[in-house]
Amino acid sequence: MTKFADLNLSPKVLKAVEEAGYETPTPIQAGAIPHALEGRDVLGIAQTGTGKTASFTLPMICKLARGRARARMPRSLVLCPTRELAAQVAENFDVYSKHVKLSKALLIGGVSFKEQDVLIDKGVDVLIATPGRLLDHFERGKLLLTGIEIMVVDEADRMLDMGFIPDIERIFGLVPFTRQTMFYSATMAPEIERITNTFLSNPARIEVARQATASETIEQGVVMARAARRDRAASEKRALLRAMIDGEGDKCTNAIIFCNRKTDVDIVAKSLKKYGYDAEPIHGDLEQSQRTRTLDGFRDGKIRLLIASDVAARGLDIPAVSHVFNFDVPGHPEDYVHRIGRTGRAGREGKAITLCSTSDEKALAAVEKLIDKAIPRLENPLSAAPEAMAEAAGTGETEKPARSRSRGGRGRKRDERPEEEVAASPAPEPVEREERSRGGRGRDRGRGAGSRDEAVVGMGDHLPSFIEKSFEERMAG
Ligand code: AMP
Repeated sequence: MTKFADLNLSPKVLKAVEEAGYETPTPIQAGAIPHALEGRDVLGIAQTGTGKTASFTLPMICKLARGRARARMPRSLVLCPTRELAAQVAENFDVYSKHVKLSKALLIGGVSFKEQDVLIDKGVDVLIATPGRLLDHFERGKLLLTGIEIMVVDEADRMLDMGFIPDIERIFGLVPFTRQTMFYSATMAPEIERITNTFLSNPARIEVARQATASETIEQGVVMARAARRDRAASEKRALLRAMIDGEGDKCTNAIIFCNRKTDVDIVAKSLKKYGYDAEPIHGDLEQSQRTRTLDGFRDGKIRLLIASDVAARGLDIPAVSHVFNFDVPGHPEDYVHRIGRTGRAGREGKAITLCSTSDEKALAAVEKLIDKAIPRLENPLSAAPEAMAEAAGTGETEKPARSRSRGGRGRKRDERPEEEVAASPAPEPVEREERSRGGRGRDRGRGAGSRDEAVVGMGDHLPSFIEKSFEERMAG
């Protein structure tokens, strides 16, 4: 088996890797690092959780340790689709470059232009940016991209989803032709293929897990949630969720519970709390400060259950999640792979349990088609005693009869949409699509004071402290 010591990394980087507690390189690291160190372009087909961030940051640090930054001319550029991901990449640089003197700047929404301008003026080795914000700086004449030696495009498929591809193409035109490019995407959509054919030069192609391949270390199961009482379908489902969580016992140290709709995220979180579970919601409509607090609490182990929408959870690096529960089957089958990929990360074991209502059965078939395997059916612990289920669902949670009436009025089948959705919002789109469709031509979302986007993506006013520090400051400290 390949060891980090076999990869030609510099001793200082090896030391940082060892201190991070990594024992062996993940396949994307073993595959990409030697090529990157040789200066070859790299095309990494890998999703989050595979260790892809270190696969480009480690060789970059080794290469950048030689040479010096010049004023206003960053030496390397990492492009990320979201602020959160950019901040995570910056955090990775901090961890792996602790024994090397490098400087960085972070160009993302929510970080003041002025402070980053000062850093750039001094000269930075690493510039981490979202595409729109980078172009804003460039257009203000504060930044020269002609010194870029290494350029990384991270999560290109999400860039495509968010409409950033024209910006990416423009940026490729602004950096030197001779640069080295490392390009990462979980999938190779035709548009992504076109970009890589145009801008990468004879890349080493490393494919570690295709989109449709769920990690082998994740145990999957689905439990069919057929309602004993149709008028209580939603609360029965919440009772089933509690039973599934309880069934996992102490093995479930922490979990992310995914819901398709923001309204359900709130309702499920509230309901779990009412039943004494340590649970908090996270979705794009919550105050940024609350999102950050919740995430920090979950990372630190103070919160056991995180109830999330797909968009809120994307790209977040939460290292040790023992379980993922899908409160419903996602409408886009590839989201299933993303969701369950939150557990079983970097070789750890994980379990993913999906609740499937009658109305979710088509979506479940689509998921199984995508992953090309049948998800094992689990016994429904409540179906043996339907009365008990109805009772469990009935206690403490009252259903409002008016909800069923309004749903009936729209001519839908009873089980098509959950009660809460109808009650809370007249015709909501599934969360994912609603958020994707925003953002115009795809510049950083969250621009413009008070825009709707502001509430959805990014860190708002909160800035983790590590972002504000340059490497140099940290070294000096
Ligand atoms: P990524 O795919 O870059 O988001 O990384 C997923 C997680 O794996 C992060 O929490 C990393 O800290 C962790 N990680 C990266 N490389 C390794 C490794 N070689 N061994 C163990 N954990 C790793």
